[in-house]
This record gives sequence, structure tokens and C-alpha cells, in this order.
Amino acid sequence: MAVSSIELVNIMEKVIDAKLEVYLPGSGCCECPVCIGDIKCLALNKLPPKYVNTHQGELFSRVDQVMLRQNSVDVDFVVLNAIERIKDKPRCKDVNDDKK
Ligand SMILES: [Zn+2]
Repeated sequence: MAVSSIELVNIMEKVIDAKLEVYLPGSGCCECPVCIGDIKCLALNKLPPKYVNTHQGELFSRVDQVMLRQNSVDVDFVVLNAIERIKDKPRCKDVNDDKK
């Protein structure tokens, strides 16, 4: 088995996806792919990565476990903070308004 075929997943990314589904609607923040990508980058860079060696099937039960164990307040805070920052300065607006 080739080393490159081992699938490592940063489960923190899945946790943030789940948090965004909760917090993004109704936040007033732009929800285009550019902004969601920026929010995820901001949040992921502030949180410690949690890599697991897994197959797709196992992934979602693990996300539940991580979300329960992780100090969830920290994750909520970081995600909400990232949403606020992008809401104030959505990069997609720059791209669309004047093509710099
Ligand atoms: Zn946007």
C-alpha cells in the first residue's frame, strides 16, 4: 500500500463545517463560496488541527465525538469571530466591484 493512499482527515474542518451550518444562516454574512472559504481558513488557522486516519464511513461518528469532547466554547467563539470579520470585509465584493 502506497503511503500517499493513506487518507488523513483534519476532523476540525468537519467540526467547523457543522458549526457554520448552525451560525452562518441569519448571521447577515455573505454565503458565497469565496466568503465561506475565507471563514473556514480564518477559523482553521486559529484552531489546533485534529488529524485522524479514517475511512469515510467512520468519519461522521468521529465528528460527533470530537464535538462533544472539544472545548466547544472555543470553537464557537473562533467560528463566530471569523464570520464577523468576513461579514465586515467580504473579499468577493472587491472581486466583483472592481477587478483588481
Ligand atoms: Zn461573498
